[in-house]
Amino acid sequence: MLAPRTYEVKTFGCQMNVHDSERLRGSLEEAGYVEAVDDAPDVIVINTCAVRENADQKLYGHLGHLARTKREREGFQIAVGGCLAQKDRSTILEKAPWVDVVFGTHNLGSLPALLERSRHNGEAEVEILEALEVFPSTLPTKRESTYAGWVSISVGCNNTCTFCIVPSLRGKERDRRPGEILAEVQALVDDGAIEVTLLGQNVNSYGVEFGDRLAFGKLLRAAGEIDGLERIRFTSPHPAAFTDDVIDAMAETDAVMPQLHMPLQSGSDRVLRAMRRSYRSAKFLGILDRVRERIPHAAITTDIIVGFPGETEEDFAETLRVVEQARFASAFTFQYSIRPGTPAATMPDQVPKEVVQERFERLVALQDHISFDENRRQVGRTAEVLVSVGEGKKDAETHRLTGRAEDNRLVHFSPGGLTGADAPRPGDVVTVEITHAAPFHLIADAEPLGLRRTRAGDAWDRAQADSCGVPATASATAPGGPVSLGLPTLRVAG
Ligand code: SF4
Repeated sequence: MLAPRTYEVKTFGCQMNVHDSERLRGSLEEAGYVEAVDDAPDVIVINTCAVRENADQKLYGHLGHLARTKREREGFQIAVGGCLAQKDRSTILEKAPWVDVVFGTHNLGSLPALLERSRHNGEAEVEILEALEVFPSTLPTKRESTYAGWVSISVGCNNTCTFCIVPSLRGKERDRRPGEILAEVQALVDDGAIEVTLLGQNVNSYGVEFGDRLAFGKLLRAAGEIDGLERIRFTSPHPAAFTDDVIDAMAETDAVMPQLHMPLQSGSDRVLRAMRRSYRSAKFLGILDRVRERIPHAAITTDIIVGFPGETEEDFAETLRVVEQARFASAFTFQYSIRPGTPAATMPDQVPKEVVQERFERLVALQDHISFDENRRQVGRTAEVLVSVGEGKKDAETHRLTGRAEDNRLVHFSPGGLTGADAPRPGDVVTVEITHAAPFHLIADAEPLGLRRTRAGDAWDRAQADSCGVPATASATAPGGPVSLGLPTLRVAG
């Protein structure tokens, strides 16, 4: 019997893309492919991102390296999908004619057929659809984590932020029906997950397609009823559409975690107007106040763009003012750079690179200072840490384990007496007292206060046993083990 063809999926960009990659893996495995365990896969799939800076340079650089492998290895195939593929289409083949398949954001499920067709016909296949034919969540999914999963509630976006390429690449917002979403959440829980992140470009407008403006709050409450689901997170909300019913649903649903990622983008009302973001800084800060009133320990994170066209020193000072007031736990900070195809790309008054750099450094310094301060306030608190895999890069050296607190803060903790058969497994929950703070993580070096072995930990054990044929004695420190990071991560750009 022929050995099954192996694949590797490389993902660039946001959580949407990471989740799409889970679907790509699912579709490939359903078609008989297996994930490569070495660095010589038969098929490499690059799931691209058009949002981040220099995305095309990165892609073409990467494809340049693969040209040699393509020449040297018989049967090796390269597929390029995702946002950049949706945007560049056949340009990809003009620039890198050794690519075998180009597919878009709307036809992830066609990948195995396109690979097969390309192999059979001996020529490249390009298939880009303008609209979604099957909601991506109905595709088979191979989840990266046993204890946490992502569920799409919508795709596309009806907003027109002038810096953003998403509306033109992902199309208008399409909402999944609540019943379908809840069924998927239930299926994840049945498989052992105890945490779910609901995903959409703009989760607060969820329901617009079927005419229910309160649909997102209702969805949070309904998900909170699912037995066994302990942690619900969501990303991303939009300040313009963030209504009090959602804050109520967050506060009144035990499983919704005390955490909110709320993109600010700029603190200047003038710049927000130019970005075509319809909230203003006062409204933004008002939302944060109301969230903190109802959920006092909520960790609020954000996205900020520095150097949007026309941003003056006064505008930037407004961003610093809002950042000071907002007391974000952390921030993704971006330097504005031109994205061809977006309205902002052709705006006059593009800010010189060195000015953007200098403002960016001031913003990062301020936010790092606030993050550290906010983290110091956690010292002495008790946190329930959901043990994860792959997030503690130095765990082996420091003899700690790593996981996420309820508010999604990263916690490295000493397992103390929890070793051997008592060691916590990924997916188990360890209660710790925070003993030290750093700008981007917390440390808990005292003896853990408790360990709760969960269904997710059992599922991790089962997955280990399935993948290597022996029951695992679990240790969350196993670097590069077969289960990789599944929790949504917060990254602080510096
Ligand atoms: S809300 Fe704005 S930034 Fe977010 S996806 Fe829609 S257009 Fe892009």
